Amino acid sequence: MNAATETFAISSATRQFLERKHQLFIGGKWQNAQSGETFAVIDPATEARIATIQLANELDIDAAVAAARKAFKGEWSKISSHQRTRLMLKLADLIDANMQTLAELEVLDNGLPMMLAQYTIAGYASEFLRYYAGWATKIHGETIPVSPMGVANGESLTYTRREPVGVVGAIIPWNAPIAMFVLKLAPALATGCTIVIKPSELTPMTALFMCDLIKQAGIPDGVVNVVPGIGTVAGEALTRHEDVNKIAFTGSTAVGKKVVESALGNLKKVTLELGGKSPVVVFPDADVQAVTMGAIRAAFFLQGQNCMAGTRLFVHKDIFDQVIQGVAGIASQMKLGHGLDPATQLGPLISAQQRERVMAYIKAGKDEGAELVCGGEAPGGKGFFVKPTLFTHSHQNIKIAREEIFGPVLYAQSFGDSDLETIAAEANKSIYGLSGSVWTKDIAVGHKMASLIDSGQVSINCHAAVDPAIPFGGNKMSGWGREFGKEGLEPYLKTKATTVIFSQPPF
Ligand code: NDP
Repeated sequence: MNAATETFAISSATRQFLERKHQLFIGGKWQNAQSGETFAVIDPATEARIATIQLANELDIDAAVAAARKAFKGEWSKISSHQRTRLMLKLADLIDANMQTLAELEVLDNGLPMMLAQYTIAGYASEFLRYYAGWATKIHGETIPVSPMGVANGESLTYTRREPVGVVGAIIPWNAPIAMFVLKLAPALATGCTIVIKPSELTPMTALFMCDLIKQAGIPDGVVNVVPGIGTVAGEALTRHEDVNKIAFTGSTAVGKKVVESALGNLKKVTLELGGKSPVVVFPDADVQAVTMGAIRAAFFLQGQNCMAGTRLFVHKDIFDQVIQGVAGIASQMKLGHGLDPATQLGPLISAQQRERVMAYIKAGKDEGAELVCGGEAPGGKGFFVKPTLFTHSHQNIKIAREEIFGPVLYAQSFGDSDLETIAAEANKSIYGLSGSVWTKDIAVGHKMASLIDSGQVSINCHAAVDPAIPFGGNKMSGWGREFGKEGLEPYLKTKATTVIFSQPPF
């Protein structure tokens, strides 16, 4: 029994769902995993088991891909774009109607505080579906004025059609489970693709609950298949599968490279949303209070297990001490606890392994001579907690300034009155290029600096602005392609050009 569900009230719907048998969702039906293998899902704040799920292997992936292919060729291909819009809107309404259950499951599964879980569901997941529901009816090709094979102008017609790419394999991580689920699902549904989603086995609960809602919304069987499993087994089987047309992967850069190799067999399309080590650049005229709160959010949102996290803080020397004092003052007072406790500001990390990884980075920071300003400890007792940690004063080349930690660890350094190119060159000293922010009241400095930062997304006077319409994705080793917005549809579509000639060509 989980102490948290005894201490804090959870809805009877959540309780009932947790007590259910958790199978794989293939072809619209709940099915046992063919190996019979199971996995205990843990509440990271209490280390207690909250559910036992079935684990997919290669055979289950084969079955899920076959179900997705059957639906793609069958019923789904006959459904109009208007109907797809309606189904997606219905699913969005069902998400809102079940917000509390989804939020409770997300908190118990991932550890994030309740308020953030509610936001990722009502403020993000359902809105994301609604945004892409609107696109379903606006996907179209073009007519192109050409004269192929020498035919006279006006004697031919060439047009393009945008067709769904086919069966999509989606592999998602544990850091924002329902957000990642919807991020892959919405463009697939809008474009008329079918999808096999492999959530992380650490956080499968909201993905499994979504299957009930998908069924209730009336989305045909086989359009969405959900198969939690181990990455090196189920994930790899999906990326290698010869009947999958596209992989949408979110995860680490190291695994992203493996995904590319596995996809070579049938040259399936691949989009990659990978790691980050994003800069937060603060000029001396910035509003110190706004910067302080912004830096805290940038570094510690989702306990720092956030690909967009602003983990390299560059502050002009004139306000460096003020900003550091402000960040340390708030960070050291942040309340760590169970996400179901309304007072909690920071939850646990996802697993003991992740906590060890983060603590090893903290040790490396100390060993390499960085000054520890606050945090740096894992409190004892149950739960995979790490205190929000701030380091300063070292040279930038130390490990904690270079590598993605994926935990609540911020590294700050100051800069002087250099030109913007020099400051940008420091900010760009990273293999990653996912996000970043610039803080200043000077619009010229803000825009110029934003243009110099080599990242897929830069925000001015906020960090990591997220909206379904804002394209998102990485430069350098942060990935391939973009998600969100109109651009987010592209990887789910292919173009067919058709030409008709009205008269005989001259040769
Ligand atoms: P991983 O790369 O370890 O795992 C991501 C997913 O890939 C999981 O479902 C995992 O399964 C699966 N996987 C693991 N090995 C393979 C394989 N060989 N073939 C196919 N799939 C595999 O990342 P984490 O789960 O640790 O997530 C953290 C990483 O994700 C961070 O680096 C972070 O930056 C990145 N991320 C990027 C985002 C972005 O939008 N750019 C957003 C969120 C996170 P399993 O769980 O079984 O290992």
